Amino acid sequence: MEIFLIAFVLSYTYGVLGISIGYHRGLSHRSFKLPRLLEYFFVMGGYLVFEGGPIFWVASHRLHHRYSDVPGKDPHTPLDGAWHSFLGWMSKPIVKISEDQYRLIVPDLYRDPFYRFLHAGGGNNDGYLCLAINVALRLGILTAFGPWALLGNVLGSVGAFIAPLLVNSICHMPKYGYQNYKTNDLSQNVWFVAIASFGEGWHNNHHKFPQSARHGLRPIEYDFSWSVLSLLKLFGLVQNIRLPRETALQGNEVAVANTVDPVVLARTSKEVSDETLADRYSAELLDEQPAFEDQTLPLKATSEEAAAKHRKSQKDRVVAITKR
Ligand SMILES: [Zn+2]
Ligand SMILES: [Zn+2]
Repeated sequence: MEIFLIAFVLSYTYGVLGISIGYHRGLSHRSFKLPRLLEYFFVMGGYLVFEGGPIFWVASHRLHHRYSDVPGKDPHTPLDGAWHSFLGWMSKPIVKISEDQYRLIVPDLYRDPFYRFLHAGGGNNDGYLCLAINVALRLGILTAFGPWALLGNVLGSVGAFIAPLLVNSICHMPKYGYQNYKTNDLSQNVWFVAIASFGEGWHNNHHKFPQSARHGLRPIEYDFSWSVLSLLKLFGLVQNIRLPRETALQGNEVAVANTVDPVVLARTSKEVSDETLADRYSAELLDEQPAFEDQTLPLKATSEEAAAKHRKSQKDRVVAITKR
């Protein structure tokens, strides 16, 4: 029985932190920087609770911020149905993301060979690979620690799998929560979801300040993931933490957490950071297709000629945007 509880608590904690710190605040919003191996450690926490590959998850999430609560465009708004926003968007998606779109939405993840490996070439392959690795892990747990450990792990993992689904659905239903900030969507702060999801349920705050590493912004809004990040900071393991400006927290001004306007950065630097590439989809500064040609992989081209043509059109877009 003891081993059941240990397995349950460890699996739930690792899974929820994996989604919150790994998939969400880390990869989707680039709210901070972790050493590469530690980043992989957190990302695998999400991956090992059946969340699907990081490229799929992050692309869906960036689309969610870009088109929050726009029916037919937001992958999981409750305006397309409560069940749809909970689980239906995964089993029967309304928004389908093509391989070319993935490359445009998450170019920063495409730079990383490990995330490309987990994507497995796209199609449904990333889902199958995720399932196979998850099943193999559970067989390993059964062999090494026995059936009670396996049961604890499975229940803890299912709980961790459900936590972000509650954020997607309940935290966009006004009857369950409250708003600290006026946003152009239905996002809500919901205390019981915040507890279950280690702080992710302060979702109205998050929609107001998507790049902020901290989601619980009022003293009563406890954010466990932020506590973990603060602890890592004490040991010098997390850097470039982005937080809302003090003035933005008081009033209702539009604030981008300590970030640089991507357009300005593109003008001044050839090195476009992961943060900038990530911001493009939540900061709503660029409404056109991304224009950071040098940093993204070329789209699939059937010939060298097509690849050259693609590179030229991307270059033209960079010029057009940076001249604005
Ligand atoms: Zn949301
Ligand atoms: Zn987000």
